Amino acid sequence: MNNARTRRIIGAGLLLVGFMAGIGLRYLPSEAQVPDEGVASISSPKVNAQQGQQQQWEYETDPEIIKSVLSGGVPMDRWNEGLMFQGIEPMPWLVSAANWFPNTEEVQPDELRITFMGTTPTIRPGQMNTSVFVELGNGDSFIFDLGEGSIANYLASGIPFNKINDIFITHLHVDHFGSLPYAYVFGAWGGRWHEPFRVYGPSGRNEEDGIGYMIEGMKMMTHWHKEAFSVFPIGQGWDIEVTEFDYQDDGGTVYDKNGVKVTHWRQSHAKDGASAYRLDWNGLSVVFSGDGRPNSLTETYAEGVDVLITELQTEVVAISSQVQGVPPFVGRYTIDTHHNPAYAAGYLANKVKPRLLMTTHMPFDAYLNPETVAEIREHWKGPYHPGAPDMIVVNVTKDKLWVREGIIAEFPNLKPPNADVSIALYGGLVVPPPLLQREDIQGQFIRDAEIPPEEYYPRGYMPQLMQSWPTDKAIFIPDSLVPPSMKSKRRGNN
Ligand SMILES: [Zn+2]
Ligand SMILES: [Zn+2]
Repeated sequence: MNNARTRRIIGAGLLLVGFMAGIGLRYLPSEAQVPDEGVASISSPKVNAQQGQQQQWEYETDPEIIKSVLSGGVPMDRWNEGLMFQGIEPMPWLVSAANWFPNTEEVQPDELRITFMGTTPTIRPGQMNTSVFVELGNGDSFIFDLGEGSIANYLASGIPFNKINDIFITHLHVDHFGSLPYAYVFGAWGGRWHEPFRVYGPSGRNEEDGIGYMIEGMKMMTHWHKEAFSVFPIGQGWDIEVTEFDYQDDGGTVYDKNGVKVTHWRQSHAKDGASAYRLDWNGLSVVFSGDGRPNSLTETYAEGVDVLITELQTEVVAISSQVQGVPPFVGRYTIDTHHNPAYAAGYLANKVKPRLLMTTHMPFDAYLNPETVAEIREHWKGPYHPGAPDMIVVNVTKDKLWVREGIIAEFPNLKPPNADVSIALYGGLVVPPPLLQREDIQGQFIRDAEIPPEEYYPRGYMPQLMQSWPTDKAIFIPDSLVPPSMKSKRRGNN
């Protein structure tokens, strides 16, 4: 095949693939990539003589006509569509441009992906308490707030229990950390055997107001549970590494590792000790401002950010009080002391001018959404998408941004624990010995009161019971025998 012919075929191939895939003209190559002779070369097909059944069409040969049909009357490059913005478009590697499905896409090396795992303070099916998950192309992942119920969306998204780690809490309202105790104890059971649970958060006016104090309380609250689960392999699972930063250190760095930097500043949320965060990596950035009143510090520290995520309250207090059951004076007072009116979210966005404004911590309701958009649009005319309801997925690269609805099963199963940390440390998966046996934490009386298995298992069936852990030694499984489903595709970063 000579080069000119190769070029022609590639040109025609691209054109046809784009057209026939039925995915719209955005995947058609630009005019420059499709020379006229490329179009001409698709004017008559090769007829397979052996099949010989094809309709004997007469084929159009005028390249201009062919081009005018395939481009549907618009330029071969992208054209301006309504109010859509340049750069708000799907990346070609997305499995579906409409939806995200768990375990179907790798975050690309220069890509950042955000998933809204919880999106409202008033928990309800479809909207768990606030949590924002950020995954980076280097294999690292970060959690901003872990509100009650949000963990169900993590697990349904195929995130193994032991990857639910590196959790940055904006403030200590329970709707922002309610899933923490669950993630802590079940994460340890679910394979977080070789690294501590890592939590980051602000200090407060007094020692009792800091995240460290709350974590001490969580350790106490989970005492019974931890001891009971200590009959399982746990290893380091009960260790908690708390990073409590000075809440007044506006612009301070709380995390700086592996090219990832997380900074923080104060939020006005009725009480000291509420923070906003910004993550920077590889020239991409996200701000999650947590809860709080419109704040000039966010204007300063969010400068140049790609995705600005802020909370929002739509100003329809009288109507919302009827729909949501919140007395209007309570609603009004709550907004004016704690929260960010939708008008202010738009105002802030217009100051910061992010590539994309997203709002979360908001009810996602048909009666409310158009009003929310209108209030934001009072000041902000740029790209906007709600970070609600749950499972809104955002792909971010330097030149494109795309928002999709993530599709999760109603009754999903767990993904096996990720063995990367163990493999990095030991060259394989180490199953640590349990810290305790049943005898250490349970009286003989109640074990003797158990109904003998022979009485309930049918004749001919008797499983090999494992009523105590058979060894006090660790078990080693070499890397080569660890199933691929327990390994990240990108290794060595976590
Ligand atoms: Zn909240
Ligand atoms: Zn709050």
